[in-house]
Amino acid sequence: MDKKPVIQKSDAEWAKELDPLQHHVLRQHGTERPGSSPLNYEKRTGIFSCAGCGEPLFDSKTKYESGSGWPSFWAPLSDAVATTTDVSHGMTRTEVTCAKCGGHLGHVFPDGPQPTGDRYCMNGAALKFEEKK
Ligand code: FE
Repeated sequence: MDKKPVIQKSDAEWAKELDPLQHHVLRQHGTERPGSSPLNYEKRTGIFSCAGCGEPLFDSKTKYESGSGWPSFWAPLSDAVATTTDVSHGMTRTEVTCAKCGGHLGHVFPDGPQPTGDRYCMNGAALKFEEKK
């Protein structure tokens, strides 16, 4: 599904709002160093939202330990993300973006756990965690 993002901002505007790593990941298709995000170890109940626009993206119920070094989920919240085919770096992968702001989040791979079998491999820098008790 390739939907046009709702929020449209210039790169200069994004660069002003985001820290350098968030900007690199979200707006330049960057990737954080594996194992570097504190969200790898986030086990509390809550919601992971887009660090760019605040849209809720993943429920902690779908987070699991993939061993990849990136926060991993087996499903996004409904209609929260969009996917496109990414052929960069000599691989064919499915890129995952925030449906609202178009920010790059990571990729989805078909080697995740049940019930979906999907592994949403996300950059922690693209996410913000909010605890919900
Ligand atoms: Fe967003």
